Amino acid sequence: MNKTNFYTSTDYQNYNIDAGIYIHIPFCVQKCPYCDFYSITDLSFKCQFLNALLKEMEMVQNTANTFDTIYVGGGTPSILNGQEIAVIIETLHRLFKIHSNPEITIEVNPGTIDLKKFKQYKTAGANRINIGVQSFNDSNLIFLGRIHNKDDAKFVITQARKAGFYNIGLDLMYGLPDQTMDSWLMDLQTAIDFKPEHMSCYMLTYENDTDLWEKMKNKAFMPLPEKQVGEQFELTMDFLENNGYTQYEISNFAKSSSGNFQKNTSRHNQKYWSSTPYLGLGPSAHSYLEPKRFWNVRSVIKYISLLNKGKRPVGEEETLTVEQMMTEAIYLGLRKTDGIDIDAYNNKFNVMFANQFEEVIKALKNKEMIFMDGKRCGLTHKGMLFLDSIAPMFVDKIP
Ligand code: SF4
Repeated sequence: MNKTNFYTSTDYQNYNIDAGIYIHIPFCVQKCPYCDFYSITDLSFKCQFLNALLKEMEMVQNTANTFDTIYVGGGTPSILNGQEIAVIIETLHRLFKIHSNPEITIEVNPGTIDLKKFKQYKTAGANRINIGVQSFNDSNLIFLGRIHNKDDAKFVITQARKAGFYNIGLDLMYGLPDQTMDSWLMDLQTAIDFKPEHMSCYMLTYENDTDLWEKMKNKAFMPLPEKQVGEQFELTMDFLENNGYTQYEISNFAKSSSGNFQKNTSRHNQKYWSSTPYLGLGPSAHSYLEPKRFWNVRSVIKYISLLNKGKRPVGEEETLTVEQMMTEAIYLGLRKTDGIDIDAYNNKFNVMFANQFEEVIKALKNKEMIFMDGKRCGLTHKGMLFLDSIAPMFVDKIP
């Protein structure tokens, strides 16, 4: 991998498809022990960071192509006040060609947001709010090192509605040590009582070198056995489907009972799963412009310093080989409930999917792990439990 600033506004010109913009806000009030996203808790850099972010936008400005999603994530974007979010969104509109009906999402953390801020975000142009609830159980929230309790989470959801947001997503986590099926079911039930348009349910994973991983290694707690984690995942799929939510990705569900399924899905996140171009701004943010992927330096200090010197903060880039692109198509396609688009795969790589993976398809179909209807190949509910072992079976067959 080389260090280079390859991206320019004309790089997007070959794409007819609308791209997305991701903004990484690299600050958190405190670090959650399971999290490996880049963020710092020293908020004194906030002003310098925002100035640097605006400089980065100036440098990569692009009016050659249309961007139809903006996702402000992190870190904790809700550390920013309404004025700061407004400046970010206004600047994007000034320097990029933004679609006339963009999806503009702000991730918020209970504990850093109130009704006034929600209203300001809405005035600034945000039309989608994603709330990091994680759990409605206080002992789980303490275990996860969150700064909020269950009452804060519930209150914040009502405030988002009160501010006039009609596209609200809630994040929950399962597979926690000592989490019972009843307790997880209660979290799911509490969440849907608020009728969110979107639900993301993530399995707790122990990422290398996080505090939680250290604690687990030191046997400070016992992780939930895999079988029970799998049962909680199955419960998630069944419960949400039975309550009017349609799963469209392994961890993501959109409310479909109101007939607005497409509108309620995350337009932005779907770009990640379909190899659509996206531009990431801010420390550690990744960008994708097939066949290239590049990402910014992680350190806020380095990010600010590079931009102050008039340099792009791109840390590294890689150019994907055809084999790597095939691997991505398999991994990302299998994450989606509608699976891999076989015609698109065949046309893109000039191969026959059915021939390339004949043996794997046969073996997995016999075990009812995948479906294959000629147009699409994807995982069944049963197969989704084994994504991590099924995807490598396909990848092994890539020449
Ligand atoms: S608030 Fe979010 S980004 Fe910040 S440490 Fe916790 S999980 Fe990570």
